[in-house]
Amino acid sequence: MFFRNLLQRRYAIPSTRKNNSTIEQLNQNEPGPLISPPNDKKFVRRRELLVQQLRERGIRDEQVLKAISSIPRQKFIDTALESRAYEDSPLPIGFGQTISQPYTVAAQTELLKVRRGNKVLEIGTGSGYQCAVLCELGADVYSVERHDGLYQEARRCLTELGYRPKLKCGDGTKGWSAYAPYDRILVTAGAPVVPEELVRQLAVGGVLVIPVGDQASQVMKRITRVSEDEVEEESFREFKFVPLIGEQGW
Ligand code: SAM
Repeated sequence: MFFRNLLQRRYAIPSTRKNNSTIEQLNQNEPGPLISPPNDKKFVRRRELLVQQLRERGIRDEQVLKAISSIPRQKFIDTALESRAYEDSPLPIGFGQTISQPYTVAAQTELLKVRRGNKVLEIGTGSGYQCAVLCELGADVYSVERHDGLYQEARRCLTELGYRPKLKCGDGTKGWSAYAPYDRILVTAGAPVVPEELVRQLAVGGVLVIPVGDQASQVMKRITRVSEDEVEEESFREFKFVPLIGEQGW
């Protein structure tokens, strides 16, 4: 594990409220294999160096590292930024949003403990890069983005690379009830609190990874639904994310 679990506690899930979320837009493509490995020789060495850096920073999950070493991150950003695609830093993707830093993607994915075939809900599709990592791990991925422009661009990019997640444009703080429950839920924007609806859409035994705090910094939390009525919460180190905007966000 790349960082120490700082705190652990157990508490009851609040009683059920009606869910009103709707499917606004859905990528109807059937699941399928990655069409072809990226034909981008000039980036191969840079990806290897990035993976080496992630190992040095403590990422241990070989499947996560393998996914990062095979996904062409340059395809998820503007061509003007291509030369910076394998820096371990966030980069702008428009609408005031960012593609997460590779270390953050690796750390969150490692914490999520994804298994092949898991049904995974991601909140905050952004560029689609994290979504591609989850697809590479063999997950059945559902992802929600609130900006239509980002949703459209991520859908184009993921489809072009041969990934087949189900995508929706809407408020991800309400989850995606039509496909619940999920084995894993990953939130890639900073939340003021853990949205109750996301906990409800988690299968028993399921895991939710979410950064929670104020808008300056957030503590990474891993919530495990240990029974119908109870969750266990672990707290890890601090990160800085763009805000989770919505009914159960900022
Ligand atoms: N996973 C993304 C990637 O790989 O590029 C990271 C994107 S960025 C750090 C977080 C994203 O969350 C932004 O695209 C933002 O628009 C989105 N977001 C914020 N609040 C949201 C909400 N309530 N529902 C869905 N997406 C939201």
